[in-house]
Amino acid sequence: MKLSFYGADRSVTGSCHMVECAGKRVLIDCGLYQGSRELDEENSHPFGFDAASVDYVLLTHAHLDHCGRLPLLSKRGFQGEIITTAASRELARLVMLDAAHLHEQDVSYRARIAGRRASTNQIMAPLYSVADALRSFDHFGRPAVYDVPIELAAGVRATFINAGHILGSASIYLQLTEGSQQSTVLFSGDLGKSGGPLLRDPTKPPAAANVVMETTYGDRLHKPLGPSIEEFYDAVTNTFKGGGNVIVPTFALERAQELLYFINQGIDHDRLTKSTQVFVDSPMAISATEIMQHHLEGLKPEIAKRIQDGHDPFHFPGLHFTRESAESAALNMIPAGAIIMAGSGMCTGGRVRHHLKHNLWRPESSIVFVGYAASGTLARRIIDGAKEVNIFGEQIPVRARIYTINGFSAHADQAELLSWQKQTGAKRTFLVHGEEQTMRSFATLLGDTRVELPVPNQVFEL
Ligand SMILES: [Zn+2]
Repeated sequence: MKLSFYGADRSVTGSCHMVECAGKRVLIDCGLYQGSRELDEENSHPFGFDAASVDYVLLTHAHLDHCGRLPLLSKRGFQGEIITTAASRELARLVMLDAAHLHEQDVSYRARIAGRRASTNQIMAPLYSVADALRSFDHFGRPAVYDVPIELAAGVRATFINAGHILGSASIYLQLTEGSQQSTVLFSGDLGKSGGPLLRDPTKPPAAANVVMETTYGDRLHKPLGPSIEEFYDAVTNTFKGGGNVIVPTFALERAQELLYFINQGIDHDRLTKSTQVFVDSPMAISATEIMQHHLEGLKPEIAKRIQDGHDPFHFPGLHFTRESAESAALNMIPAGAIIMAGSGMCTGGRVRHHLKHNLWRPESSIVFVGYAASGTLARRIIDGAKEVNIFGEQIPVRARIYTINGFSAHADQAELLSWQKQTGAKRTFLVHGEEQTMRSFATLLGDTRVELPVPNQVFEL
């Protein structure tokens, strides 16, 4: 029985872990590295294992840093079954297609530049194409249902447990038997927090001998949600008074829907004006909003009931969805009074970079960050106080007001992570999916467990 690590080791992205038991190889997630050019290149490196030898992939959730290398896995020979919840399957489809599309665009953009400079450098092929992503969907097999064990093989049983992080997200509990040896491993996936407006709260974790857990916010506590919502309303009101726009770099899954819900509430309770204009400039966020309305099983009962009764908890008169890029470009003409939500959340790509280009230099506009920004990303540079940043080859001065509102985070904070780990009673705790310094400070808080900080390709006997 072995547990090995192939991504998100002493770093935040690229989640990929493997369990070998009873002659089967089970991968937990196969995510993309994100954050910088070097990390982008890391994605094309060998996995560290033979893709064709993997029997199952269990996918914790649909964020790109957890599912983004699945098309590559199938391109490199994976023939097994991918198992995840029904909602994650739909969202992962959306996320993987979008990523494939961006890879293709990136390569053709670089090809154009090289052509213009008559460069003889060889043009890279995309990491994977839209066709590769489509082919990888053929491997999605039976859907996982929360709390219902799945027998993958004699000696390997998997149970998906609601992690409350994004729609469909799960922690994965493995019960393993090999000969006379038995063990359990619980993979946290990304853990959400209790008390959010839309999603069901995370389920209490089962007891497990080993846990592999994320530590994204292992070194800090979030501000409470209530004051964060107020801070958001104030940011919007002040910016509109000053004659600017509010740009919200948004993760398309969850955060976008949560913000729409809060904006709607703010309008209902007169914290925002009835005429507030909101543009959701992200085809992925638009589709994710639709998917959410079809997966009521993941939502809080009161929200699910409202949707069932025909009410749309996200809709209000000033809400506009812009799918087409021409509509998106037209938003650059809006001088003031608009909230523009666009991806990507860490500003590593996507339409938000255009809106930043048109608003970052304007002292009357605001940029409101509502999610995690990995080091090396454009979002992180702006948050850390860069005086100017490079966008599409142009130096743009940062004069807009910058807000970082972390109470909206879809991740558990230090206290919630600690309490989760304690409930598992784990004898051995493997920390992944965090910056190394964060992991080290989180590790000092853990008692009664052996703590491991795996490095890439490290193998442990269970
Ligand atoms: Zn996530």
